[in-house]
Amino acid sequence: LDLLAETDPVVAGFIQQELQRQRDHLELIASENFTSAAVLAAQGSVLTNKYAEGLPGKRYYGGCEYIDEIEQLAIERAKQLFGAVHANVQPHSGAQANFAVFLALLEPGDKILGMDLSHGGHLTHGSPVNVSGKWFQVCHYGVSPETEQLDYDQIRDLALQHRPKLIICGYSAYPRVIQFDKFRAIADEVGAYLMADIAHIAGLVATGHHPNPIPYCDVVTTTTHKTLRGPRGGLILTHDIELGKKFDKSVFPGSQGGPLEHVIAAKAVAFGEALKPEFKHYSAQVIANARALASQLQQRGLKIVSDGTDNHLMLVDLRSIGMTGKQADQLVSAVNITANKNTVPFDPASPFVTSGLRLGSPAMTTRGLGTEEFTEIGNILGDRLLHPDAEAIAQDCRQRVANLCERFPLYPHLRIPVPA
Ligand code: PLP
Repeated sequence: LDLLAETDPVVAGFIQQELQRQRDHLELIASENFTSAAVLAAQGSVLTNKYAEGLPGKRYYGGCEYIDEIEQLAIERAKQLFGAVHANVQPHSGAQANFAVFLALLEPGDKILGMDLSHGGHLTHGSPVNVSGKWFQVCHYGVSPETEQLDYDQIRDLALQHRPKLIICGYSAYPRVIQFDKFRAIADEVGAYLMADIAHIAGLVATGHHPNPIPYCDVVTTTTHKTLRGPRGGLILTHDIELGKKFDKSVFPGSQGGPLEHVIAAKAVAFGEALKPEFKHYSAQVIANARALASQLQQRGLKIVSDGTDNHLMLVDLRSIGMTGKQADQLVSAVNITANKNTVPFDPASPFVTSGLRLGSPAMTTRGLGTEEFTEIGNILGDRLLHPDAEAIAQDCRQRVANLCERFPLYPHLRIPVPA
């Protein structure tokens, strides 16, 4: 970084500013986390220089002897972490992992059944603006209007009616446990493949804090950068060796070129960290903190979708206080809290406005905050959202955010020289 500041002070300056932003904001975006310094180091290494099309031991380029060791290590650790028989660690992102699965299992025009985006699904699960919605016939399930939780009878009815070739479970904004065994029974009844996209909950699954989909699903995809706390990237897992070979081909040459071996090394480091007992404690704390936050927000009179959370995230339904997600996002952002507006189930507002605020605990749990501090965050959010026009309260919230950030430093040893 010293060198960067010398050779490109402009870029170094922006990196410094971003580090400072991460340090002095409360990061509550449910899909974000802070990787270890070891993950950062692996990703910033000379491995970025290497082409390695193919798989360990079967490359199209020379000079891959160390790359092979690294990628094989990442594969073995991923398999161990999730109890899978086959892993492909090359997808550049979660979306790329999902696309590779579609390429392996489906033909254009095939039917898929996935969760509606506005109920917590992901764009890659059949949204009309994504290739998954353009190439396939999509039917969507949602949550029950009463419980705001998955309604397996409705999912079964839709599956029987539409007979999809692929059923997708796993979500971007669903705060409850997913019962993969129930999805398996439905998929078997209609002869569909079953895919779980555990991008959000991967860290909880890896540590036994959420049921593991591997035994029930034909394929499991995930990102590596959310609760799993690795570098930005994707991963495909399966218990089926033959399907695994198909996924390997659909990643390369099907949909990607050269793998990002510096990212794969960082994945190996993160998987190694996730295999340690400390990570199990971390994951338990992520859930305890999310529950503390949800419960404090409820105490303050705010409505939480499905009345609570079983995982790392929650959705605040702002309709009861007559506020939109967009307004709430701006309000919290002005007191240095980062979150995101999000649709709530059956949201009357547009996706650009929304009626919800999505909050998550993984990042601030990494900084060391516990339930006491998350209760304080619930109070800060309550004060801010319930008194949107009170400048004195806003000032107080800003100070309390600053106090928390100061008490739990981020990357204390990381020094970015200030450019001249
Ligand atoms: N799948 C789910 C459930 C997600 O929540 C996300 C990201 O938010 C993705 C896939 C896509 O991951 P990426 O942004 O790495 O492409």
